[in-house]
Amino acid sequence: MPVSNTCVKTGEGQVAMLQIPYPDEPGPGQALIRTRLSTICGSDIHVVDHLPVPAGVPMGHEAVGTVEAVGAGVTAFRPGDRVVVSCLLCCGTCRRCMEGDQQVCETFNAPANLLFGAQGEFFLVNGAQTSMAKVPDGLEDEQVLFVTDIMSTGFAAIERAELKPGDTLAIFAQGPVGLCATAGARTYGAGLIIAVEGIPERAAMAKRLGADVVVDPANAVAEILRLTGNRGVDVAVEALGHEVTFQNACAVVRNGGTVSSVGVYGGYTELRLPTGGSFMHRKIVTTLCPVGTARMERLMALIQGGRVDLRPLLTHSMKLSETPAGYELFRKREGGVLKIALRP
Ligand SMILES: [Zn+2]
Ligand SMILES: [Zn+2]
Repeated sequence: MPVSNTCVKTGEGQVAMLQIPYPDEPGPGQALIRTRLSTICGSDIHVVDHLPVPAGVPMGHEAVGTVEAVGAGVTAFRPGDRVVVSCLLCCGTCRRCMEGDQQVCETFNAPANLLFGAQGEFFLVNGAQTSMAKVPDGLEDEQVLFVTDIMSTGFAAIERAELKPGDTLAIFAQGPVGLCATAGARTYGAGLIIAVEGIPERAAMAKRLGADVVVDPANAVAEILRLTGNRGVDVAVEALGHEVTFQNACAVVRNGGTVSSVGVYGGYTELRLPTGGSFMHRKIVTTLCPVGTARMERLMALIQGGRVDLRPLLTHSMKLSETPAGYELFRKREGGVLKIALRP
């Protein structure tokens, strides 16, 4: 029986490395994965610090690993395969999955649809047949890690806005997901890309990944209107999850344009529109990370073709056994941290 040294939520705001036993033989539909590369996500901090998730939950939902064993019904993967695993699990056969909306699978309902335990030496994947994808030879773990979550989310913010070539964008907040949206805008052929960010390291990264201009949050609305000749942008992406950024995104989108939101808005029960003006004939779309085998294969094809490289987001590196210290670093946003590479 493999025993995994895994980062576990041990109380509100607390994590620790604990020994978790996993079965030699995974159950039907499951796969046991040996971690090669993992990372910490903003939603891990939500789970540990804010959400009513009980102590004892193994943390981590973004990883590249090697298949150790598969259960009955998992025919697409064999032991030894190098795989990426979606942060949200899917069955592949329910109505939502059949229509390509695997992230809202009807079989694996929240929170049972979230992958748990990827910040450990081993972890177990439910719905393995449709929730994993083989990594093509020649691609490094570091290149593909983000197809499991933040690249898919950030790129989907652009896809759901139905971006047209040459569209003008404003992307509010350049955290890991916002930066992926910026990279996605460039990959998908946007025109002017305006990023909104006040932290110097993040502003620099936004430019590196595709932003033409970075404006300060304090005067973002006025600056974006000035840059677009008072027309407003075709698409405004909200990637922070705060009311003020949602309002600012609404304020800068042109008549007939789209507000594309990937923020979580935890703690908000209402989102008010900006005051002093009308808000008509705009579209508001929201996005949950698209997942599943085909989705990750498409994103890896973009990476393989040299269309995008998100490795610069891995600003820090630690041993998997040091994950709790990684949470502290990530929480405090020290040293320009964006994503931490965790290796066994
Ligand atoms: Zn995540
Ligand atoms: Zn499903």
